[in-house]
Amino acid sequence: MKMGIAVIGSNMVDLISYITRMPEEGETIEAPDFQMGCGGKGANQAIVSARLGSEVVMVTRVGDDLFAENTIRNFSENGIDTTHVLRTEGSSGVAPIFVDQQSHNSIIIVKGANNQLSAEDIESAAERIKGCKLIVLQLEVPLETVYAAVEFGEKHGIPVLLNPAPAAPDLVLDRVKTCEFIVPNETELSLLTGMPVDTQNDIRNASAVLLNVGIKNVIVTLGSRGVYWTNGETEEFFGPSLVQARDTTGAGDAFIGCFSHMWVKTGDIAKSLQTAGLYAGDSVTRLGTQTSYADALDFQSRYP
Ligand code: ADP
Repeated sequence: MKMGIAVIGSNMVDLISYITRMPEEGETIEAPDFQMGCGGKGANQAIVSARLGSEVVMVTRVGDDLFAENTIRNFSENGIDTTHVLRTEGSSGVAPIFVDQQSHNSIIIVKGANNQLSAEDIESAAERIKGCKLIVLQLEVPLETVYAAVEFGEKHGIPVLLNPAPAAPDLVLDRVKTCEFIVPNETELSLLTGMPVDTQNDIRNASAVLLNVGIKNVIVTLGSRGVYWTNGETEEFFGPSLVQARDTTGAGDAFIGCFSHMWVKTGDIAKSLQTAGLYAGDSVTRLGTQTSYADALDFQSRYP
């Protein structure tokens, strides 16, 4: 029986400098602290599913630098199959981040090797992906690669979950219409449909646009307001997990990684959404991105 999850997407290394203030143009300042962390939407979602116990294969590209080793080691330590982590000449995906004492941040994304992930890379991992029950995609790799992955899923009867993030105005909905799930946040939903998302009715109407192109399930994450789901026949607003939020970075990825894991395991969408809401809510109580993601034992002990 197929149980695995294929995440076809990005990886990044976050390079976080903690500064007292932003430098002026031409100025050099000293940062009192620095941290390096693994990130990238694809990698984050893969890490969550794997930590919860799913069998995960990551199809991604790293560069030929020091960061590549770090990323591959991180995947392996989390039990992810790295057979299809491919090497590219040049830089890995990196994100220099500057955080000041008021928690204001400036982020530069260098996609690096992520820009080289191609349709051919999907074909070279075809046999492995065919053994999976779900393909998970985001938009930090070229759109043509995303479309190729959607077509691959359709051709081989593998359901596809698309997280249309970061928001991409040039995503062609007609080329992702065969997805089983699309999971935007409110901003992404508004951008994809050109519609407002201020009220519950707005969210319902905008989601209907995505259903009308043919996507089977629309799941909208609403931050501290919870989640909305519709498949056209039924709809539900799930309230948020009531927690003291400390850092919501990577909450969407926590949600998607947990939903994917639960859906592959149970096939029950409503139950998977409830669990994913609890898991993402739990993650926002801790600082950092991957550092805030619980493993199965931790999560079960907090939410038995
Ligand atoms: P993104 O990070 O992609 O913008 P959201 O902000 O919508 O995604 O968050 C994803 C999910 O994480 C939400 O649907 C919710 O389940 C959970 N979440 C986010 N922020 C909070 C919060 N302050 N309290 C409780 N749950 C939260």
